[in-house]
Amino acid sequence: MDPMKIQKTILLAVVILFSTVVKSQKLAIIPQPTEVKAGVGNFEITAKTGLKFDAGNKDLKRIAGFLSDHLKQYYKLDLKQTQSANDMIQLKLAPSEGLGKEGYKLNVNKNGILITASTPNGLYYGIQTLKQLLPVDSAASAAASAPVKVPYVEIKDQPRFSWRGMHLDCGRHFFPVSCIKKTLDEMVLYKLNTFHWHLTEDQGWRLEIRKYPKLTEIGSWRDETILDSKTNKYDGIGYGGFYTQDQVKEIVKYAADRFITIVPEIEMPGHSSAALTAYPELGCTGGPYQVAQKWGIFNDVFCAGNEQTFTFLEGVIDEVCELFPSQYIHIGGDECPKVAWKKCPLCQQRIKDEGLKDENELQSYFIRHMEKYLISKGRKLIGWEEILEGGLAPEATVMAWKRNTPAGSIAAKQNHDVIRCPATHCYLNYYQVKDIANEPPGYPGLLSLEKVYSFEPIPDDLKKEDAHFIKGAQACIWSEFISTTKNLEYSIFPRLCAMAEVVWSPVEKKDFNGFKERLGTDFQRLKMYKINYCDHPY
Ligand SMILES: [Zn+2]
Repeated sequence: MDPMKIQKTILLAVVILFSTVVKSQKLAIIPQPTEVKAGVGNFEITAKTGLKFDAGNKDLKRIAGFLSDHLKQYYKLDLKQTQSANDMIQLKLAPSEGLGKEGYKLNVNKNGILITASTPNGLYYGIQTLKQLLPVDSAASAAASAPVKVPYVEIKDQPRFSWRGMHLDCGRHFFPVSCIKKTLDEMVLYKLNTFHWHLTEDQGWRLEIRKYPKLTEIGSWRDETILDSKTNKYDGIGYGGFYTQDQVKEIVKYAADRFITIVPEIEMPGHSSAALTAYPELGCTGGPYQVAQKWGIFNDVFCAGNEQTFTFLEGVIDEVCELFPSQYIHIGGDECPKVAWKKCPLCQQRIKDEGLKDENELQSYFIRHMEKYLISKGRKLIGWEEILEGGLAPEATVMAWKRNTPAGSIAAKQNHDVIRCPATHCYLNYYQVKDIANEPPGYPGLLSLEKVYSFEPIPDDLKKEDAHFIKGAQACIWSEFISTTKNLEYSIFPRLCAMAEVVWSPVEKKDFNGFKERLGTDFQRLKMYKINYCDHPY
């Protein structure tokens, strides 16, 4: 071999070696962890690798089971429990040096994989990260018991915000139990912890309430649905569905097992056509009402002057509190037109009796009444930002959603907790690309992946010392135009990945180009998990 050729061969070998090292260091973790130190080399999980954890702890047993199932399903590796100090994956509860209740440490070295956290929740998030360190390309085609390479790494990680949420509207369209469970699984992949379940709407009441059976017998069903608001065309097909209390219990447990809190939303006083159709005596005019067949805001709202309204809603809240252990109960409070209240003698009498200034203060009276009831049951009220109208209830948490309005900072300046979800950055029901010719149906308007990624939950005009009132943020999905699990996933992904990074990762670690690169690997994982996503613009 001539010297030039030898030189070229050496150069080529160096390049190959270098690129292999770089490849093993290229981690694609979403959301980006607080601290990552990549090492050189890989630990190999094989059929001989053991799983080490305290089997006497039922939480650890459950989450070790999740990891073990994952390795079995995607890598055909059936790990046995071990007590050995090497060749193992260990889940260990230990003080986590300021990493909080959701933080964890993950170390991969020649001895194995060690995940440490001060709580099972932290260990569970460590497992989510570990899943993202496993190879994706070889997974589906892996031969039984083939070794699985995990790059050496040291990770220290904890979330930036405590409320990392996703909201789903099940009123406009009803999503079956299997879809809700899959959605919860999807949230877990990105360490989201709050599922805001929108259960009642003008177009359908979706939650069984035993004391008021007509809510679902009548209120869960609409005779037809609008196809096109311009031509006023309807489909002529009845549509409905609801969750039984047994199904709700099953879903709440499924979520809790995965460290997700479900915050149920029961809309009041507006968006209540379905409830009023079932119980017309609770409206200002007495009806008749109709479960809405088109989208929008409706003038039929709960009567705030009628004592029966509060008796009814307290009865509903009683059952909601039995079903949902969540500290927060969402009462809606948004988009409540005051048209009916202005004409209603009972509502006007209430305004007089209570010395209220106007219908906005009547709305505030309504919300305060419900807050008092929730507090008496040891719960906290959360509502959309319209609960600011006429004065905020004393302990209410505000969900700030409107475009270009500073409700988030207004509420925080009044020392109220705030969850941010401005439609401009967080409503995943908008189209995600400009050219919508081949897109599944969405909300008119554009919300790109980059815009979601650019969202900053702490408003600019908020003083540093008030920033702690911002508890977090969430993605919202309104389902007027989304009716199938497939289209739901399409609107969620990959924008939910961007939202996860907004609420989890340190702000100084945010980098859209780096995120997009990691997303390439993530798309392979979504494929592996059989989750639909929108990939063409990225
Ligand atoms: Zn009234």
